This record gives sequence, C-alpha cells and structure tokens, in this order.
Amino acid sequence: MSLAGTATPAETLESTDPASGAVVGLFPVQDAEAVRAAVDRARTAATAWAALGFDGRRQRLAAYRGHLARRLRELADLVHRENGKPHADALLEITLAVDHLAWAGGHARRVLGPRRVAPGLLAANHAAWLEYQPLGVVGVIGPWNYPVFTPMGSIAYALAAGNAVVFKPSEHTPAVGTWLAEAWRAAVPDAADVLQVVTGLGETGAALCRAGVGKLAFTGSAPTGREVMAACAETLTPVLMELGGKDAMIVADDADVAAAAGAAVWGAMSNAGQTCIGIERVYATAPVYDRFVAEVTERVRGLRPGSDGDAAYGPMTMPGQTDVVRRHVDDAVAAGGRLVAGGTVEGRFVAPTVLLDVPETSAAVREETFGPTLTITRVRDAEEALERTNANPHGLAGAVFSRSRTRAMDLARRMRTGMTSVNSVLTFASVPALPFGGVGESGFGRIHGADGLKEFTRAKAITRQRFGLPVDLMSFGRPATAADALARVVALLHGRHR
Ligand code: NDP
Repeated sequence: MSLAGTATPAETLESTDPASGAVVGLFPVQDAEAVRAAVDRARTAATAWAALGFDGRRQRLAAYRGHLARRLRELADLVHRENGKPHADALLEITLAVDHLAWAGGHARRVLGPRRVAPGLLAANHAAWLEYQPLGVVGVIGPWNYPVFTPMGSIAYALAAGNAVVFKPSEHTPAVGTWLAEAWRAAVPDAADVLQVVTGLGETGAALCRAGVGKLAFTGSAPTGREVMAACAETLTPVLMELGGKDAMIVADDADVAAAAGAAVWGAMSNAGQTCIGIERVYATAPVYDRFVAEVTERVRGLRPGSDGDAAYGPMTMPGQTDVVRRHVDDAVAAGGRLVAGGTVEGRFVAPTVLLDVPETSAAVREETFGPTLTITRVRDAEEALERTNANPHGLAGAVFSRSRTRAMDLARRMRTGMTSVNSVLTFASVPALPFGGVGESGFGRIHGADGLKEFTRAKAITRQRFGLPVDLMSFGRPATAADALARVVALLHGRHR
C-alpha cells in the first residue's frame, strides 16, 4: 500500500498486522489544512452529486457495490491483515456493507423524495410539499473493529441522500479506509471527490470536526464522542453518535437453551468480542441457568483464538485492549466472580472467557469490555433480567430468548436499547430497512434504513398557493367578522371532543 493523499505529509502513520506485527502500509498524518482542503473539494463535488438526482446516484452507488462485490476477497484479505479477524468474518462484514449500499441507493427516492402532504384547515387553498435535502458534506469518523461495515453504515446512507463524504478511518485501519476511497474513485470516476479519505491520528479527526462539514457522523467510544461533540459545538455542527454498548441477553424459563448458548457464545466471542453490539452479559432465569452455563462452557471449550485458518477469532486489534480485558477479569474475580473458562491472555490473544456470579457493580458488568468475555448471572425471572439489563447506562442492543412470541416481543419492547433480537443475536444489523443506533451512553441518531437516510438530510417544507380565497385570514385586509367565523368553524369541527 502506498502513501495516500495529495499533500506531502510532515508525518506518516504505519499500519501493522496485529497478529504478526508486519507492516500493512504507510499513510500520511493529514493536518487541519489537508483536511480542510479535502472538505473544500468535497463541497464542490457535492453540488454536482446532488444535481445527479436519485437515479443518477443510484446507478453510481450500484457501480460501487459491483466493484466491491467483484473484489470481495481482496478487501477481505486486507481486513484480515490489518484488523486480525478471520477471512470468513471479513467476508461476512463486507457482504453486509454491500447489502446496505444496495438498500440505501434503492430506497432513497421513496424515503426522501418530494411528497405532498395534507395542507390542513387554514391552508386548504395551498399545496404542501415535504422533501429531504442533502446537507452538503458529511464527515465520517470510524472505528477499527468493523472497518468496512461500520463506516459504510454512515457513508452509504449519506451518499444516497445526496451528500459528499470525507471519511477519517481509525489509525488502526487506515489501509482499509484508503482502499474504500480508492475503490470509489475507480468505480465512479465522474464523481471521484464525492468520497474521500483523510488519514491520521485523533487530531485529524478533530480537524474534520472543525472543517465546516454539514454533519459529523461519529462511531467510537463515549469519551472520544464527548470530545467530538465539544469540537462540533464550536461551529454548531450537528452530530450523530454511535457509541459503545454493554449488551445483555435475557434467557427466559421457556428458552431453547442450546440455541441461546450457541448465540451467546457467537455474540460474545466472534471478532474477539470487539463488537459494539456484542453480547457481554447474560441473565438466565433460575430454571435454565445450570443448563445454560453447561452448554456455554462446553461450546467455549471448542474455541481457539489465532491467526490461522482454523482459529475461531483473531487477536485484539488494539494493543491496549488486552489491558482492559485483564482489568475487568481480575476485578470480577477479586469481587467474588468465578472463572469457568479462559481468563488467560497471551500476547494479543485472549482466551474465550466465561465468568459467573460477578457482582453487578463490577467493571465486567458495568463497563464495555470489548473482549471475548461473557458474564452469566442467575436471576429469579425474566422481569429481574430486564431490570438488570436496563440498569446499565449503555443502551445499544440486546437479545431475548423465549419460546413465547408474545412474552419475547414484550421483553424486547421494554428493553432500554435501540435494537433487540429475539431468539438470535445481532440480526437487526443485517436488516438494511431497520435503523441502527443506541440510547443513553450508547449515543443518539440512527444509521441504516429510512431513519438512516433522513439522518443525513434536512427536512424542507414548501407551500404553494393554488388559488386565492375571498377572505385572506393572514392579511391586514381581513374583515373584522372573519375571526368570529373561524371560531365558529373550529368549535364545530373540534368542540365535540372531550
Ligand atoms: P475511539 O473513540 O478511540 O476512536 C474512534 C475514532 O475517533 C477513531 O477514528 C479515532 O481516531 C477518532 N478520534 C480519536 N480522538 C479524536 C478526537 N479528539 N476528535 C475526533 N476524532 C477522534 O474508538 P475505537 O476506535 O477504539 O472504537 C471502539 C469503540 O467504538 C467502542 O466503544 C465500540 O463500542 C464503539 N463502536 C460503536 C459502534 C456503534 O455503531 N455504536 C460500532 C463500532 C464500534 P484514531 O483511531 O486515529 O485515534
């Protein structure tokens, strides 16, 4: 991978394979001036991009997804080398991103296009129109854990809505970010500057917040999210915050315990647990608890981290993350938690770890661990499970396992999260029509689906007078009796409601 960007950078950033330490590529650390130049180019490109209209953009987004689909393996290999996840997981991630690109391009007109709305009583002689217009340039700051899927959740929807995008990937995955922008240039040469990448460290991201973008879509941790909000507040730049989670699974009395255990293990351990919507804690009711623990420990025994083809998951992408995992496990054990699997860290590889009886006040239950760990807690019933689930300040997603459709849907609705899967984990993320985002410490705003398209637009209201009325209520020329007549009509129409 060669140096990206146009300016000659003062500094460079080296991206390495987390498993072997091999250099993946060298990238410029772009300063505020370079970021502003990229945003300026994007602003010019945005005008032409918006003028293409929904069909023109749909065709070009289709060309981009075709390009990605034809080079799926090449991109998956890069994701594997730079992020460390197994090839199969990288392929799955890119497939999801391609699916979202298809949905966003295909549905933008229906969701955002002009539509007539009822004008109401006072404007009965007017036509009323609503449409959703692009914001211009959207800045996207992304994390490293799903370096294709996560930023594409903002990029695809922002582009389909008619915006240009300047994307700052994590310093741990600049090669994947640069690949995505180069792929855009190759697939959509007549709108090459509509998707650009700027690489660097946190300061490059901070510069993007201050570069005059129409909106800043941030995905990352809550502490950085607060810094991004503070920087954006200086220029009243609106923000979208996709932050961390501490997702719980509720296993009810009537759950398919084997299925729940399989899903919990995948939800907790896949991608080495570095998944914002990963399952980190399980609340299993007393009648199923022992069986659930046995099923989970049995499955976990068959898992091994590594960077070979047979490994279940890869290394921790960020070196410092192993310290967080170690701290959470040690803290849980010191507080009386029982380690029934794993707990060991070798280099960047963390063994699949299962903890029981961990107090709710412990970091392993309160804070995002972002590692291949799972706490399992026995609860009286599903109501207690829900209460404990909702007591956490995070509120990204979660799962419910129950054979009763009514009960499961009721629990899912009352879970204080943006997303819930019933009898599976993470499924909502693969349904392009469903919005993705959290509540509380997990952030606000939505990507994906119709809400994700609207997130990158401003609603525009237009009225057009179709014919004049003999009496114009919004005129100084209205007769003195007009207001009385109006009062009589309102009383007639609405007065009977009590
Ligand atoms: P960070 O918050 O550390 O970083 C996120 C991004 O912000 C990176 O690109 C980072 O750049 C950049 N950044 C750092 N400092 C600043 C700053 N001052 N101003 C602007 N940008 C800055 O998160 P991680 O990369 O570690 O990602 C993991 C976190 O992301 C977890 O908490 C996870 O739960 C969350 N996440 C949330 C998702 C969701 O959809 N809700 C999805 C995926 C992850 P650099 O890397 O160069 O420092």
